[in-house]
Amino acid sequence: MNAPLEGAVIKQHVIDPEICIRCNTCEASCPINAITHDSRNYVVDVAICNWCNACIPPCPTGAIDNYRTMPKAVAYSLADQFGWDELPAELSRDQLAAAGVGAEAEAAVTPPAPVLPAAVSGESEFRSADWGSTIGPWSAAHPYVNLYGPKAPTTAKVVGNVRVTDAGYESDTHHVMLDFGGMPFPVLEGQSIGIVPPGVDESGKPHHARQYSIASPRNGERPGYNNVSLTVKRVLADHQGRPVRGVASNYVCDLQVGDTVQVIGPFGASFLMPNHPRSNIVMICTGTGSAPMRAMTEWRRRLRKSGKFEGGKLMLFFGARTKEELPYFGPLQSLPKDFIDIEFAFSRTPGAPKRYVQDALRERAADLAELLKDANTCFYVCGLKAMEEGVVLALRDIAEKAGLSWETVGAALKREGRLHLETY
Ligand SMILES: Cc1cc2nc3c(=O)[nH]c(=O)nc-3n(C[C@H](O)[C@H](O)[C@H](O)COP(=O)(O)OP(=O)(O)OC[C@H]3O[C@@H](n4cnc5c(N)ncnc54)[C@H](O)[C@@H]3O)c2cc1C
Ligand code: SF4
Ligand code: SF4
Repeated sequence: MNAPLEGAVIKQHVIDPEICIRCNTCEASCPINAITHDSRNYVVDVAICNWCNACIPPCPTGAIDNYRTMPKAVAYSLADQFGWDELPAELSRDQLAAAGVGAEAEAAVTPPAPVLPAAVSGESEFRSADWGSTIGPWSAAHPYVNLYGPKAPTTAKVVGNVRVTDAGYESDTHHVMLDFGGMPFPVLEGQSIGIVPPGVDESGKPHHARQYSIASPRNGERPGYNNVSLTVKRVLADHQGRPVRGVASNYVCDLQVGDTVQVIGPFGASFLMPNHPRSNIVMICTGTGSAPMRAMTEWRRRLRKSGKFEGGKLMLFFGARTKEELPYFGPLQSLPKDFIDIEFAFSRTPGAPKRYVQDALRERAADLAELLKDANTCFYVCGLKAMEEGVVLALRDIAEKAGLSWETVGAALKREGRLHLETY
């Protein structure tokens, strides 16, 4: 008899490398580090994954929502998955039977029931990623996603490329405008697109797309035009500070007006702004994390200009090393004070103490506590990965000092699509 032992057949959780845009969202949302990546593929470790499902809703492409019925003994290893260019087909009945898996066992296999991340259920250490919403605010407009996939990108024309940080500083950030001409490319503030760099990587395979947040509002960088803008920082050093020339960021920063680029997307169905009257928006960002904040601010500004803005507070906490390295510093200064309340935080201004966004948040605790109490407030965090934990901890401390329970407030923010984290 070759019936499999109980639990010998599994639904193995796998990621489709052809759809995955390598955005890292799943790795950041997995509470038990079951997801890892190399320079090409994101993969799930079958020995760790417990089917909590925390990674499924945040994935912007659906690439992670894939399973294979496998005899446990021959489940795909990490090395197998790193080598994939496409998902292997399901094993056939004959292949499963040869591995001792009968039709009965195959039919009976179900993934374990989803388990809530421990930090959300209040059982373990603080993990900022656990508090991020995977749904948009209730009043958000309907987003379109995945209109153009990696197998069928669309083409956009570069109609502008200007540097938005001062020359002579480490940060070289560009505001790049892309026009889609007659191709439909509907976007909302907070969504992103993928740019496919031309050429191949060191293993001779086409470069995978890199994601960039849309920096313009839904009706275009120029109202009524079918164009979007991006805020792209040239990567010249890796996260450890070693010199490296980032493939996509250098390609985008060097684009000339008239060039064409391959674009996929749009992506993102949760980092979306509320649309209901008197909804408040608190935006917390560093560097290029300002892109979605620029989009949201500009949309509200256009609504206000056309007399359709029915109130609601806008707060922006914006961090950079120095003011010269802060994209859009000039235009931000000219926004009316009764429209947006801006706090800058500079961490490397010569002669001044280091100030980070979380310091600025704590200084504005009284205002933020009121906004945390208001169910019409949505919080957005975007920028450097390193800022995320400090920011969410600051929000927790502000809530608790104001006599609010973070377990209650934080859980409501998450459940109601009112706290969004997008760090990279
Ligand atoms: C949802 C989302 C939105 C994003 N939005 C923006 C945006 O609006 N603007 C923007 O500029 N970027 C944005 N990014 C980051 C962007 O997708 C790329 O990762 C970044 O431009 C680097 O790509 P590259 O091809 O130049 O570098 P790669 O060739 O991919 O990487 C080169 C090396 O640099 C490291 N590296 C990658 N990114 C950085 C970085 N930012 N700082 C330091 N080292 C890095 C890599 O680990 C690698 O070692 C976003 C990412 C995500 C997931
Ligand atoms: S299902 Fe849960 S444990 Fe498995 S990879 Fe996704 S987030 Fe991680
Ligand atoms: S596209 Fe989905 S599977 Fe790929 S890295 Fe992003 S979240 Fe993970």
